[in-house]
Amino acid sequence: MAVRIDLHCHSSTSDGTDTPAELVDAARVAGLNVLAITDHDTTAGWSEAVQALPRGVALVRGMELSCEAVPFSGGRVPVHLLGYLFNPAYPPLAAELARLQGERSRRLRVMAERMAADGLPIDPAAVLANAGPSAGRPHLGRALVEAGVVPTVGAAFDHLLSSRGGYYVHKEDVPLQRGIELVAAAGGVSVLAHCRAHVRGGTLSEDAIAELVPLGLGGLEVDHVDHSDGDRARLRELADELGLLRTGSSDYHGRNKTVPLGAHTTAADQYERLVAEASVTPVVQG
Ligand code: AMP
Ligand code: FE
Ligand code: FE
Ligand code: ZN
Repeated sequence: MAVRIDLHCHSSTSDGTDTPAELVDAARVAGLNVLAITDHDTTAGWSEAVQALPRGVALVRGMELSCEAVPFSGGRVPVHLLGYLFNPAYPPLAAELARLQGERSRRLRVMAERMAADGLPIDPAAVLANAGPSAGRPHLGRALVEAGVVPTVGAAFDHLLSSRGGYYVHKEDVPLQRGIELVAAAGGVSVLAHCRAHVRGGTLSEDAIAELVPLGLGGLEVDHVDHSDGDRARLRELADELGLLRTGSSDYHGRNKTVPLGAHTTAADQYERLVAEASVTPVVQG
């Protein structure tokens, strides 16, 4: 039987709806052999996931770091950087995560306050209290669903939470080059998440991706729900041209998105290469 490896999954420590314990059990139920927990800008779910790890599931401890690139052409491109098997206590990285978490809470509070001021049935303090260490727009989306304003979190993103909408507040993410250097310096491996996902806004050019390799970029997420077949074919080629590893993953968010665990997976040889390139935090075998 083929080994099933899903390297990008969110728990309720960020904007998923499964607790870390529920997430690792869901991996067992879904028949996964390897699961990575990759919450946005926090490693706070790692210990619960390790404690609850079922037999037969291996846990890769990771994170999805919120970065932004500033291309020569101007503007800002939001980039999500998956980091795996790094040391979360590395002081420069820990400091950056603390800053990002503060930035997330600040901006979500302002967005919620703008909605409340506009008469929407939103309690900013309650939204923040429910959010945990990595407050994100999906937490506000859940509150809008529960208040009956929209049917789904996805629908909340169409207008109310959109970066083009009137309630949106920018958050200051990590310069991409710095993010890659931080993950590498902390002993981990970095992978560009869903880097051809046009639905999310601007994307990096192939030249811009090539420039990240000497900084320590380790791989590209190729198989992702937001990538077309053409995107995947080209990313596979690009990874080979640049000597990067290729991953596939679900980007599971529980009930906040529709994609199921294991919807896309990573090949065993690529996974073995990722593990071999990391030097600090081991994979935990349940
Ligand atoms: P934030 O990091 O607070 O700006 O929120 C971005 C997060 O919202 C991403 O990590 C996604 O998980 C989630 N997201 C973005 N678009 C959608 C959508 N259309 N439906 C559900 N979740 C979304
Ligand atoms: Fe998310
Ligand atoms: Fe992402
Ligand atoms: Zn993600």
